[in-house]
Amino acid sequence: MKYFAGIDIGSTAIKIVLIDESKNIVAHQTSPTGSHFQRNSLECLAALLAKTGIKKEDVEYMISTGYGRKLFKEADESTSEITANAAGARHFSTNNGNVKTIINIGGQDSKVILLDNDGHIKNFAMNDKCAAGTGRFLEMTARNLGIEVDDLGDLHLKAKGIPLSINSTCTVFAESEIIGLLANGHEKEEIIAGVHYSIAKRIVRLAGRLGVEDRVFFDGGPAMNKGLVAAMDDELMRNVVVPEIPQITTALGGALIARDAFLSKGEKFYA
Ligand code: ADP
Repeated sequence: MKYFAGIDIGSTAIKIVLIDESKNIVAHQTSPTGSHFQRNSLECLAALLAKTGIKKEDVEYMISTGYGRKLFKEADESTSEITANAAGARHFSTNNGNVKTIINIGGQDSKVILLDNDGHIKNFAMNDKCAAGTGRFLEMTARNLGIEVDDLGDLHLKAKGIPLSINSTCTVFAESEIIGLLANGHEKEEIIAGVHYSIAKRIVRLAGRLGVEDRVFFDGGPAMNKGLVAAMDDELMRNVVVPEIPQITTALGGALIARDAFLSKGEKFYA
Protein backbone atom coordinates (compact mmCIF):
# COMPACT_ATOMS: atom_id res chain seq x y z
CA MET A 1 0.00 0.00 0.00
CA LYS A 2 1.17 3.50 -0.82
CA TYR A 3 0.46 6.48 1.42
CA PHE A 4 0.22 10.24 0.91
CA ALA A 5 0.59 12.98 3.48
CA GLY A 6 -0.55 16.56 3.83
CA ILE A 7 1.09 18.69 6.49
CA ASP A 8 -0.57 21.98 7.41
CA ILE A 9 1.87 24.09 9.40
CA GLY A 10 -0.48 26.70 10.81
CA SER A 11 0.26 29.71 12.98
CA THR A 12 -0.97 27.81 16.04
CA ALA A 13 -1.07 24.10 15.25
CA ILE A 14 0.62 21.58 12.96
CA LYS A 15 -1.83 19.13 11.44
CA ILE A 16 -0.81 16.05 9.42
CA VAL A 17 -3.18 13.71 7.58
CA LEU A 18 -2.12 10.42 6.06
CA ILE A 19 -4.32 8.88 3.36
CA ASP A 20 -4.08 5.63 1.42
CA GLU A 21 -4.43 4.97 -2.30
CA SER A 22 -8.24 4.99 -2.01
CA LYS A 23 -8.25 8.41 -0.28
CA ASN A 24 -9.18 6.89 3.09
CA ILE A 25 -7.85 8.77 6.11
CA VAL A 26 -5.43 6.33 7.76
CA ALA A 27 -4.38 8.59 10.64
CA HIS A 28 -4.00 12.21 11.64
CA GLN A 29 -1.88 14.05 14.17
CA THR A 30 -2.02 17.54 15.66
CA SER A 31 0.59 19.34 17.75
CA PRO A 32 1.42 22.95 18.68
CA THR A 33 3.46 24.85 16.08
CA GLY A 34 5.69 26.65 18.57
CA SER A 35 8.67 28.61 17.31
CA HIS A 36 10.67 25.70 15.80
CA PHE A 37 8.58 24.90 12.71
CA GLN A 38 10.93 22.36 11.18
CA ARG A 39 11.74 20.43 14.36
CA ASN A 40 8.14 20.41 15.63
CA SER A 41 6.83 19.35 12.22
CA LEU A 42 9.30 16.46 12.09
CA GLU A 43 8.29 15.39 15.61
CA CYS A 44 4.61 15.53 14.67
CA LEU A 45 5.31 13.38 11.59
CA ALA A 46 7.38 10.90 13.63
CA ALA A 47 4.54 10.58 16.18
CA LEU A 48 2.01 9.96 13.40
CA LEU A 49 4.18 7.27 11.77
CA ALA A 50 4.95 5.64 15.14
CA LYS A 51 1.27 5.22 15.97
CA THR A 52 0.44 3.71 12.57
CA GLY A 53 3.56 1.57 12.17
CA ILE A 54 3.93 3.01 8.62
CA LYS A 55 7.48 3.72 7.50
CA LYS A 56 8.51 7.11 6.16
CA GLU A 57 9.57 5.52 2.86
CA ASP A 58 6.01 4.22 2.37
CA VAL A 59 4.79 7.81 2.26
CA GLU A 60 5.13 8.31 -1.49
CA TYR A 61 4.40 12.01 -1.70
CA MET A 62 3.98 14.79 0.83
CA ILE A 63 2.57 18.28 0.36
CA SER A 64 3.13 21.04 2.88
CA THR A 65 0.72 23.91 3.29
CA GLY A 66 -0.10 26.66 5.78
CA TYR A 67 1.85 29.53 7.23
CA GLY A 68 5.14 27.59 7.68
CA ARG A 69 4.93 25.47 4.52
CA LYS A 70 8.07 26.85 2.84
CA LEU A 71 10.21 26.05 5.87
CA PHE A 72 9.45 22.33 5.90
CA LYS A 73 12.14 20.77 3.75
CA GLU A 74 10.90 17.16 3.90
CA ALA A 75 7.84 17.87 1.74
CA ASP A 76 7.98 17.07 -1.98
CA GLU A 77 6.01 20.25 -2.82
CA SER A 78 4.10 23.00 -1.11
CA THR A 79 0.75 24.58 -1.90
CA SER A 80 -1.25 27.52 -0.55
CA GLU A 81 -3.70 26.91 2.26
CA ILE A 82 -6.51 28.29 0.06
CA THR A 83 -5.90 25.54 -2.54
CA ALA A 84 -5.48 22.82 0.11
CA ASN A 85 -8.50 23.93 2.14
CA ALA A 86 -10.69 23.91 -0.99
CA ALA A 87 -9.44 20.40 -1.90
CA GLY A 88 -10.24 19.10 1.61
CA ALA A 89 -13.69 20.72 1.68
CA ARG A 90 -14.47 19.40 -1.82
CA HIS A 91 -13.66 15.88 -0.64
CA PHE A 92 -16.12 16.23 2.24
CA SER A 93 -18.74 17.81 -0.02
CA THR A 94 -19.57 14.40 -1.48
CA ASN A 95 -21.26 13.61 1.81
CA ASN A 96 -22.39 17.12 2.67
CA GLY A 97 -23.98 18.37 -0.54
CA ASN A 98 -22.54 20.90 -2.87
CA VAL A 99 -20.25 23.23 -0.90
CA LYS A 100 -20.02 26.71 -2.47
CA THR A 101 -18.66 28.77 0.42
CA ILE A 102 -15.87 27.77 2.82
CA ILE A 103 -15.35 29.74 6.00
CA ASN A 104 -12.08 28.90 7.72
CA ILE A 105 -11.06 30.35 11.05
CA GLY A 106 -7.49 29.64 12.06
CA GLY A 107 -5.31 30.62 14.98
CA GLN A 108 -4.31 34.00 13.56
CA ASP A 109 -6.35 34.52 10.43
CA SER A 110 -9.73 33.86 8.92
CA LYS A 111 -10.72 33.37 5.31
CA VAL A 112 -13.67 32.87 3.03
CA ILE A 113 -13.36 30.88 -0.21
CA LEU A 114 -16.03 30.68 -2.91
CA LEU A 115 -16.23 27.61 -5.16
CA ASP A 116 -17.97 27.38 -8.52
CA ASN A 117 -20.28 24.54 -9.56
CA ASP A 118 -17.27 22.37 -10.46
CA GLY A 119 -15.60 22.98 -7.11
CA HIS A 120 -12.94 25.32 -8.50
CA ILE A 121 -11.91 28.38 -6.50
CA LYS A 122 -13.85 31.40 -7.77
CA ASN A 123 -12.81 34.04 -5.27
CA PHE A 124 -11.47 34.39 -1.74
CA ALA A 125 -11.00 36.97 0.98
CA MET A 126 -8.68 36.85 3.94
CA ASN A 127 -8.29 38.65 7.25
CA ASP A 128 -4.79 38.26 8.64
CA LYS A 129 -4.42 41.76 10.01
CA CYS A 130 -6.78 41.68 12.94
CA ALA A 131 -6.83 38.97 15.64
CA ALA A 132 -10.41 39.79 16.67
CA GLY A 133 -11.97 37.36 14.18
CA THR A 134 -9.57 34.49 14.84
CA GLY A 135 -8.75 31.64 17.22
CA ARG A 136 -6.39 33.95 19.06
CA PHE A 137 -9.39 35.95 20.27
CA LEU A 138 -10.88 32.72 21.65
CA GLU A 139 -7.62 31.85 23.40
CA MET A 140 -7.47 35.31 24.97
CA THR A 141 -11.08 34.96 26.15
CA ALA A 142 -10.45 31.53 27.69
CA ARG A 143 -7.31 32.79 29.43
CA ASN A 144 -9.10 35.80 30.94
CA LEU A 145 -11.98 33.65 32.13
CA GLY A 146 -9.63 31.01 33.62
CA ILE A 147 -10.94 28.16 31.44
CA GLU A 148 -9.68 26.00 28.56
CA VAL A 149 -10.48 26.88 24.94
CA ASP A 150 -12.26 23.48 24.55
CA ASP A 151 -14.77 24.49 27.28
CA LEU A 152 -16.01 27.61 25.45
CA GLY A 153 -18.60 25.72 23.37
CA ASP A 154 -20.40 24.03 26.28
CA LEU A 155 -20.39 27.22 28.35
CA HIS A 156 -21.89 29.21 25.44
CA LEU A 157 -24.75 26.72 25.21
CA LYS A 158 -25.53 27.35 28.91
CA ALA A 159 -25.80 31.13 28.41
CA LYS A 160 -29.23 32.58 29.16
CA GLY A 161 -30.86 35.59 27.50
CA ILE A 162 -29.43 37.80 24.80
CA PRO A 163 -25.64 37.41 24.32
CA LEU A 164 -23.65 40.38 25.58
CA SER A 165 -22.33 42.66 22.93
CA ILE A 166 -18.54 42.89 22.76
CA ASN A 167 -17.89 46.14 20.94
CA SER A 168 -14.10 46.40 20.87
CA THR A 169 -12.70 45.92 17.40
CA CYS A 170 -9.23 45.02 18.66
CA THR A 171 -8.19 42.06 20.86
CA VAL A 172 -6.26 44.27 23.25
CA PHE A 173 -9.29 46.49 23.93
CA ALA A 174 -11.60 43.46 23.96
CA GLU A 175 -9.46 41.98 26.74
CA SER A 176 -10.11 45.10 28.88
CA GLU A 177 -13.79 44.99 27.91
CA ILE A 178 -14.09 41.35 29.07
CA ILE A 179 -12.36 42.11 32.36
CA GLY A 180 -14.75 45.09 32.79
CA LEU A 181 -17.80 42.87 32.13
CA LEU A 182 -16.58 40.34 34.72
CA ALA A 183 -16.03 43.16 37.23
CA ASN A 184 -19.62 44.27 36.60
CA GLY A 185 -20.89 40.84 37.66
CA HIS A 186 -21.67 39.35 34.24
CA GLU A 187 -21.57 35.56 33.98
CA LYS A 188 -18.78 33.83 32.03
CA GLU A 189 -21.41 32.14 29.87
CA GLU A 190 -22.92 35.41 28.59
CA ILE A 191 -19.47 36.90 27.95
CA ILE A 192 -18.45 33.80 25.96
CA ALA A 193 -21.63 33.93 23.88
CA GLY A 194 -20.93 37.63 23.25
CA VAL A 195 -17.39 36.84 22.05
CA HIS A 196 -18.68 34.12 19.71
CA TYR A 197 -21.28 36.44 18.18
CA SER A 198 -18.66 39.15 17.76
CA ILE A 199 -16.36 36.73 15.83
CA ALA A 200 -19.29 35.40 13.77
CA LYS A 201 -20.46 38.93 12.85
CA ARG A 202 -16.93 39.84 11.75
CA ILE A 203 -16.47 36.80 9.49
CA VAL A 204 -19.98 37.10 8.08
CA ARG A 205 -19.15 40.70 7.12
CA LEU A 206 -16.01 39.42 5.32
CA ALA A 207 -18.06 36.69 3.60
CA GLY A 208 -20.77 39.20 2.68
CA ARG A 209 -18.26 41.10 0.55
CA LEU A 210 -17.89 38.03 -1.68
CA GLY A 211 -21.52 36.89 -1.49
CA VAL A 212 -22.38 33.79 0.52
CA GLU A 213 -23.78 30.85 -1.43
CA ASP A 214 -25.16 27.59 -0.04
CA ARG A 215 -23.87 25.25 1.20
CA VAL A 216 -21.56 26.89 3.65
CA PHE A 217 -18.73 24.76 5.04
CA PHE A 218 -17.11 25.90 8.29
CA ASP A 219 -13.68 24.56 9.29
CA GLY A 220 -10.43 25.28 11.14
CA GLY A 221 -9.78 24.62 14.85
CA PRO A 222 -12.42 27.10 16.12
CA ALA A 223 -15.12 25.14 14.24
CA MET A 224 -14.75 22.51 17.02
CA ASN A 225 -16.47 25.06 19.26
CA LYS A 226 -20.23 24.32 19.26
CA GLY A 227 -21.04 27.79 20.57
CA LEU A 228 -19.21 29.48 17.73
CA VAL A 229 -20.96 27.18 15.23
CA ALA A 230 -24.34 28.19 16.72
CA ALA A 231 -23.39 31.88 16.42
CA MET A 232 -22.33 31.35 12.78
CA ASP A 233 -25.66 29.62 12.01
CA ASP A 234 -27.55 32.57 13.51
CA GLU A 235 -25.52 35.27 11.80
CA LEU A 236 -25.61 33.54 8.41
CA MET A 237 -29.28 32.56 8.89
CA ARG A 238 -28.56 29.02 7.69
CA ASN A 239 -26.96 25.86 9.04
CA VAL A 240 -23.27 25.60 8.28
CA VAL A 241 -21.73 22.21 7.49
CA VAL A 242 -18.97 21.30 9.95
CA PRO A 243 -16.84 18.25 9.12
CA GLU A 244 -16.22 15.65 11.81
CA ILE A 245 -12.68 16.90 12.50
CA PRO A 246 -12.73 20.50 11.23
CA GLN A 247 -9.13 21.31 12.14
CA ILE A 248 -7.67 18.83 9.62
CA THR A 249 -9.49 19.77 6.40
CA THR A 250 -6.54 21.74 4.98
CA ALA A 251 -4.03 18.97 5.81
CA LEU A 252 -6.41 16.44 4.22
CA GLY A 253 -6.54 18.64 1.12
CA GLY A 254 -2.73 18.58 1.07
CA ALA A 255 -2.74 14.76 1.23
CA LEU A 256 -5.26 14.55 -1.64
CA ILE A 257 -3.15 16.93 -3.73
CA ALA A 258 -0.09 14.77 -2.92
CA ARG A 259 -1.94 11.70 -4.21
CA ASP A 260 -2.93 13.55 -7.42
CA ALA A 261 0.65 14.80 -7.90
CA PHE A 262 1.98 11.24 -7.55
CA LEU A 263 -0.50 9.96 -10.16
CA SER A 264 0.14 12.87 -12.52
CA LYS A 265 3.80 11.86 -12.68
CA GLY A 266 2.64 8.69 -14.42
CA GLU A 267 3.10 6.59 -11.29
CA LYS A 268 0.72 3.67 -10.77
CA PHE A 269 -0.57 2.12 -7.57
CA TYR A 270 -0.41 -1.47 -8.69
CA ALA A 271 2.61 -1.57 -10.96
P1 ADP B 1 -3.86 27.46 12.36
O1 ADP B 1 -4.02 26.59 11.13
O2 ADP B 1 -3.82 28.92 12.06
O3 ADP B 1 -2.73 26.99 13.24
P2 ADP B 1 -6.12 26.00 13.52
O4 ADP B 1 -7.11 25.79 12.42
O5 ADP B 1 -5.27 24.84 13.87
O6 ADP B 1 -5.22 27.28 13.20
O7 ADP B 1 -6.93 26.52 14.78
C1 ADP B 1 -6.29 26.90 15.97
C2 ADP B 1 -7.35 27.47 16.90
O8 ADP B 1 -8.32 26.47 17.18
C3 ADP B 1 -6.83 27.89 18.26
O9 ADP B 1 -6.43 29.24 18.23
C4 ADP B 1 -8.05 27.70 19.16
O10 ADP B 1 -8.79 28.90 19.23
C5 ADP B 1 -8.92 26.70 18.42
N1 ADP B 1 -9.00 25.40 19.10
C6 ADP B 1 -8.02 24.49 19.26
N2 ADP B 1 -8.45 23.39 19.91
C7 ADP B 1 -9.76 23.61 20.16
C8 ADP B 1 -10.79 22.83 20.80
N3 ADP B 1 -10.56 21.62 21.30
N4 ADP B 1 -12.02 23.38 20.88
C9 ADP B 1 -12.28 24.60 20.35
N5 ADP B 1 -11.36 25.37 19.73
C10 ADP B 1 -10.12 24.88 19.64
